[in-house]
Amino acid sequence: MGKVALVTGGTRGIGAAISTALKKAGYSVAANYAGNDDAAAKFTDETGIPTYKWSVADYDACIDGIGSVEAELGPVEILVNNAGITRDAMFHKMKPEQWRDVIDTNLSGMFNMTHPVWSGMRDRKFGRIINISSINGQKGQMGQANYSAAKAGDLGFTKALAQEGAFKGITVNAICPGYIGTEMVRAIDDDILNSKIIPQIPVGRLGEPDEIARIVVFLASDDAGFITGSTISANGGQYVI
Ligand code: NDP
Repeated sequence: MGKVALVTGGTRGIGAAISTALKKAGYSVAANYAGNDDAAAKFTDETGIPTYKWSVADYDACIDGIGSVEAELGPVEILVNNAGITRDAMFHKMKPEQWRDVIDTNLSGMFNMTHPVWSGMRDRKFGRIINISSINGQKGQMGQANYSAAKAGDLGFTKALAQEGAFKGITVNAICPGYIGTEMVRAIDDDILNSKIIPQIPVGRLGEPDEIARIVVFLASDDAGFITGSTISANGGQYVI
């Protein structure tokens, strides 16, 4: 059996591509999801990857969920914090619950998932934490004050934790995807996608989930042992820093 990799939001979109790519690379993969049982069942049928349902926004549920994964597969050695949501609104119309839902899932979710696996990784002197942030956490995006704040927070979290984990053999890195063709992006009105978003992407297309998954596989590998605290942008040239 390969090392155990847990992917949050691992049953759909980018997360499904990550789970599948890690399995193909030889890892023993567990895919978490929040509530879409049909998508999760279809994913397991197609890939053979077991799925585990809990919300990353709930700390106690994360402890229980990780406990189930570890009881069945073994200690989590690679954690991919991928689960994320959008609740877009211009700030003057943004409701407190839209702010809270996004912060709880996209930012606190990283704490809730990483904290329970951290001590075990320290004890074993090996770990890989890979956090999926966003281009919009780097540059800010109107209509997404909540999402941009959470995703920028993910980058600060990554950099701080990388410094704490380095001498214990744990690397912590972030990936900032640009626009990737998943349901999250396909939900955007076609006119806006074609007239406003794609023209801003120099390569002239949306990214593919596999293009993010391949970065994850690299960061999880022994070859990436000297990379920690890094942010890898994959955005087709849309935002160059
Ligand atoms: P999708 O909406 O396609 O899939 C989201 C996944 O996250 C689903 O598996 C969903 O579970 C799960 N999820 C949502 N909320 C929770 C929760 N509270 N607890 C556990 N799982 C949860 O998203 P994408 O694949 O598009 O996005 C994946 C990540 O990449 C997100 O963090 C997103 O912010 C980021 N990203 C995406 C970009 C894009 O262009 N698509 C661009 C930049 C960043 P369920 O199926 O049960 O709903």
